Amino acid sequence: MSTFDHKLLFSFLFLKDIRVISGNSGAIIRSSRDFKSESTMEKLIATLLIYIGANTGYDVSKVSPPEIRLLSAQEMTDEYYGGSDSTRPESGIDSRIFALYNYEDSQEGIILLLDPRLNDALTAETVDADQTPLDRTKPLDQKWLDNHVFQEQLLHELIHHVQYQTGQVNQFPCAAYSEREAYLLGGKFLRERHATDPLPNRNVLAYMYSRC
Ligand SMILES: [Zn+2]
Repeated sequence: MSTFDHKLLFSFLFLKDIRVISGNSGAIIRSSRDFKSESTMEKLIATLLIYIGANTGYDVSKVSPPEIRLLSAQEMTDEYYGGSDSTRPESGIDSRIFALYNYEDSQEGIILLLDPRLNDALTAETVDADQTPLDRTKPLDQKWLDNHVFQEQLLHELIHHVQYQTGQVNQFPCAAYSEREAYLLGGKFLRERHATDPLPNRNVLAYMYSRC
């Protein structure tokens, strides 16, 4: 069991983004050699871990990469509300859930991301909108891996991953405190890339969600 009460955990946008999650849905990106996207997704994870190491006091040299799963909005909603006391929105889909971190079902940690190809906010930005039906078993194109907003969603969960793997989370006054670092570093990351931050009130959220 975790030392933390999961009911009090973490927020991403308006929701906590770390909770106990079960289920095996989604396209799973593991370190299997036959998966074409592994080099690029793994490269992105490695790059973001180095970024975290360079911009925080964490030693990321011993942090192992987590498993990444890409899910639909429905699957993200199911993962989030499954076994939770929270009430689902009437539509059945909670469109505020972009990313989740699960640290209990796997020692390596699992990051669940809304598949960027199914994220309306991101697809609206892409000029060359693809009209062919989406095959979600296909690896992500480089254009998605290069998308700064998608990268920041992954970065946010990777910070939680580092906080857990280094044991730093046990030093925080409470579990929610870990959000401060995740939100603030994400904002810095986007500013440095001159990307529009989807959370213009990020600094307020960083303090609001990290209160113990
Ligand atoms: Zn978070």
